[in-house]
Amino acid sequence: MTPVTDLVNAPSGQSAQVNGAQAGPTGQTRTGMTADALRAAVSDHLVYSIARPPAVLRAEHYYRALALAVRDRMQKRWMATTQDWLDLSAKVTCYLSAEFLMGPQLGNNLLNLGIEDAARQALADLGQDLDEILDCEGEPGLGNGGLGRLAACYLDSLATLERPSIGYGIRYEFGIFKQEIAEGWQVEKTDNWLVHGNPWEIDKPDASYLVNWGGHTEQYTDVTGKLRVRWVPQRVLKGVSYDTPVQGYGVNTCNTLTLWSARAVESFALDAFNTGDFYKAVDEEVVSETVSKVLYPNDEPEAGKRLRLLQQYFFVTCSLQDILSIHLQRAQLPLSALPDKWAIQLNDTHPSIAVAELMRLLIDEHQLGWDEAWDLTVRTFGYTNHTLLPEALETWPLRIFGEALPRHLELIYEINERFLTEVRARFPDDEERVGRMSLIGEEGGKSVRMAHLATVGSHAVNGVAALHSELLKSSVLKDFYELWPERFGNVTNGVTPRRFLALSNPGLRGLLDESIGPGWLTDLVRLRGLESFVDDPAFRARWREVKRANKSRLAEYVHSTTGIELDPTWMFDVQVKRIHEYKRQHLMVLHIVALYHRLKTNPGLVIPPRAFLFGGKAAPGYTMAKRIIKMITAVGATVNNDPDVNRYMKVVFLPNFNVKNAHLVYPAANLSEQISTAGKEASGTGNMKFMINGALTIGTLDGANVEIRQEAGAENFFLFGLTEDQVEAVKAEGYRPQSFVERDPELAAVLELLAGGTFTHGDSEVLRPVVDNLIHHDPFLVLADYRSYVDRQAEVSRVWLDDDVWSRMSIRNTARSGKFSSDRAIREYCDEIWGVGPMSVDL
Ligand SMILES: *Cc1c(COP(=O)(O)O)cnc(C)c1O
Repeated sequence: MTPVTDLVNAPSGQSAQVNGAQAGPTGQTRTGMTADALRAAVSDHLVYSIARPPAVLRAEHYYRALALAVRDRMQKRWMATTQDWLDLSAKVTCYLSAEFLMGPQLGNNLLNLGIEDAARQALADLGQDLDEILDCEGEPGLGNGGLGRLAACYLDSLATLERPSIGYGIRYEFGIFKQEIAEGWQVEKTDNWLVHGNPWEIDKPDASYLVNWGGHTEQYTDVTGKLRVRWVPQRVLKGVSYDTPVQGYGVNTCNTLTLWSARAVESFALDAFNTGDFYKAVDEEVVSETVSKVLYPNDEPEAGKRLRLLQQYFFVTCSLQDILSIHLQRAQLPLSALPDKWAIQLNDTHPSIAVAELMRLLIDEHQLGWDEAWDLTVRTFGYTNHTLLPEALETWPLRIFGEALPRHLELIYEINERFLTEVRARFPDDEERVGRMSLIGEEGGKSVRMAHLATVGSHAVNGVAALHSELLKSSVLKDFYELWPERFGNVTNGVTPRRFLALSNPGLRGLLDESIGPGWLTDLVRLRGLESFVDDPAFRARWREVKRANKSRLAEYVHSTTGIELDPTWMFDVQVKRIHEYKRQHLMVLHIVALYHRLKTNPGLVIPPRAFLFGGKAAPGYTMAKRIIKMITAVGATVNNDPDVNRYMKVVFLPNFNVKNAHLVYPAANLSEQISTAGKEASGTGNMKFMINGALTIGTLDGANVEIRQEAGAENFFLFGLTEDQVEAVKAEGYRPQSFVERDPELAAVLELLAGGTFTHGDSEVLRPVVDNLIHHDPFLVLADYRSYVDRQAEVSRVWLDDDVWSRMSIRNTARSGKFSSDRAIREYCDEIWGVGPMSVDL
């Protein structure tokens, strides 16, 4: 190991002694973008921030030092960005989301700042390898899956498109659990992501807000003689902000992600201390801090309801108080200018209490009248719906809601009364409609319907793919669409090509730069330029070579984490996403077992070899999903160890799927499995990441698959399964899964193998519940789509045998994936919903 003194004195080309404040201009060490400046900065941080003598320096110390050096390089851009929108009074987007699944930050920040090569050189000068250093960074798991990752992609695009914006969320102390696999079953381990510190965030203890909870309301007369309402809470805690810079690619814009952390209020605790009740003070602190303790799994059946409501209210009120405080500070803007200066987007219903909270702040705290407050509220909010699944549409039992947020319940009643008056005026004598639209649900005990609150309180409501937005208008929000058709729109999701192409697929990035030239990274439709290379055999060979290298990289990772060896010449057939019945991981297993069955019963059979890869977490309380994981691992263990079949197939369950290992997965896939029941997946974004990286899709007409197929061309997409209309028709007639088993002997054999214990050492109890569910009460119609899926898979195998045909299809998929950039999606949000324009930042 090189001693730090030597590093500091190493020749740097300009100054022999670059040591913090003494030698070389400090500005250089803090902000210089050359390899020399970065090396000096890392050395400096090793001494002044890490404070470890050279003899004990390890890779993670270099990681931390480099991360701090990189953060320094964003700092001026960050402050300039904020100062500019304050000075110019520019309109700002606030993206309210209970989840931000950001992924590792170092590589992305180096990329966006344009200093990857400089950092690599700087570390090499220090005897370190950048890739090893990057690998030291853990995953900040502050999200469950697609919804949280979407929020992160949108922040990247907002910054890259130079739109002033703030992401607001929760700084969970424990993010999504770490998944381990023991004896084939999922085991959840606590994710203590902050234990090694987080070099990216800056805490701002002075930027904190009080959060009331519980208690009651009372009326009083103010000094002007007006009757007002005051909320007398039972408890008060506070939210402290932690800010993380979000650097745009190739621009100076550096936006902010503000995450709130819960704390006890000092005065409360102090009171207890002063009265000698030390333990009460500590209790108070412990209870307050549980509010931002853990991330709730999103498909968990009913758990900790009250705390989740508190979490939602907690981050919403802190964010809105922050927005109002900035608003009133900057150029003394009147509150009436709120919708001209802020667009607040509700990412699903999790932050939808914001509608009532902004009303409370405007009316109770800022003394506005009802009509003005309501007008400002509706013009400020937009709402994005993410699901049609009835079990995922949030409602709060009235009793829980009223006890926790008594003032908000009063406001919601008032909003509802005025809203239902409007409904009755438009649709006279239609009390059924009024009941359906009410913000208060009556079925199964009274409850507050959060999707209705979000819809009534927003000027724009959108779904996340064309099909989903249409279904929204014809199903869950049909009545609202009939009342306000002009509020409804669509913004198809997108993913950031910075992280999901440039950063995670450097091989493809290089090939693209060489073939179509740079520029595609901020204008993804330029990938179209690839079309002119499809008929070039040398180019196709290089295309395959890139994919092959990515597969070797993933195979190495799979081997190190599971012990399973994969051959990178095989087809990599991949399904990675949360484990859920509607996503139908079990349908993919049925195909695997069908192939197993064919190989076992036809000893001479030869099939194109495939590696089947799964990854994804199941909500801890979702027992069926956990059993599906066991089904995958059990089939895998049998297949992988049977010499009759393991020459042709292997099955891998990759533990702990997250953004960090997703970087290895998407670029290595040949086939992308997007096989949800039509009508159930709102959009999907995994499907887009695969397409951009040249995988072909086998999929249903669901979510954004519809648009992926449209863009790629039907001939470059493997379609199967019932359409959404057909799904509804089958259900209306009464779905009889057994009839599909009776007609299909291979399906019967597959189910028998699974239920009979072939993959579970003869134990027929382990997988039988999954099979029983498929045969007796499966709302996701797996068996109805089985034959169509398996037959389409046979075609996939045939096409795979012809390298050139497959490569052409692969290139065309990437070439036509430009629509699925989050830059396109964010432009649409900015133009059609937020009215937020670009603001370039000068340093
Ligand atoms: C993109 C992504 C998802 C979403 O995948 P879908 O296939 O759209 O469900 C989930 N988890 C991670 C880590 C992702 O990167």
